[in-house]
Amino acid sequence: LFSGPIDFLKSAPQLQHLPDPTVPEIAFAGRSNVGKSSLINAVTNRNKLARASNTPGRTQELNYFDVGRDPLVFRLVDMPGYGFAEAPKDMVKRWRFLINDYLRGRQVLKRALVLIDARHGLKDVDRDVMKMLDDAAVSYHLVLTKADKVKPTELDKTLEIIRAEAAKHPAAHPLILPTSSETGAGLPELRTAILEAVLQ
Ligand code: GDP
Repeated sequence: LFSGPIDFLKSAPQLQHLPDPTVPEIAFAGRSNVGKSSLINAVTNRNKLARASNTPGRTQELNYFDVGRDPLVFRLVDMPGYGFAEAPKDMVKRWRFLINDYLRGRQVLKRALVLIDARHGLKDVDRDVMKMLDDAAVSYHLVLTKADKVKPTELDKTLEIIRAEAAKHPAAHPLILPTSSETGAGLPELRTAILEAVLQ
C-alpha cells in the first residue's frame, strides 16, 4: 500500500471541510519541527508529499492524504504542529478547539501517532495532547523521531522514561516506536502499526 498510489486530497481548516468519513484515518501529531513532514514522506516513500509548513501564523489545517486509489483504503491526516514558543494565545486556543472537536467527533480515526523528538523527550505540550487523546478515547502510539541523532544508550533511556509515562495514559499504546526518516530505522515497524490500526 505504501508503495502504491498516495494522493494529497485536501486541506481542512475547519471541521465542515473534513472529507466524508468513509474510510479509516490515521493522524500524525507533534510539536513543530519534530520531523512530522519528514516522517510522513519517509513512511510513504515520497519526497514531497507533506510539506514542512508549520510556521507560526500560518493557517492551521488538517491535511489529508488518500492511501490507495480504486479502492481508496485509508487516509493519513497531517495535524497542525503545536508548541511554538511564540504562538499567540488565540492561535493556541484555535488549535485546541479544532483538534478537540476533530478527535472527539471522528469515529473513523483509528489511531494517532504522537511524534516526540528523541533528543528532547516528552514535553508538557505533548502531555497535553496525550490527555486530549485519552479523553477522546483515541488510541495512540508515541513515535520517537530523529533516532539517528542520539546514541543507542541514550535512546534506550528515553524509551524507558517514555514507556513508564505511556503506562499512565489510558489510550497510549504500549508499543513505542523509535524512527529515523534519515536512516529509515523503524519505518517498517511504523508501517505495520499503521496497517494494524487500519485493519482492526
Ligand atoms: P515538521 O515541522 O515537524 O514537519 O518537521 P520537518 O519534517 O520539517 O523536520 C524538521 C527538521 O528536522 C528538518 O531540518 C529535517 O531535516 C530534520 N529531520 C527530520 N527528521 C529527521 C531525522 O529522522 N533525522 C535527522 N537527523 N533529522 C531529521
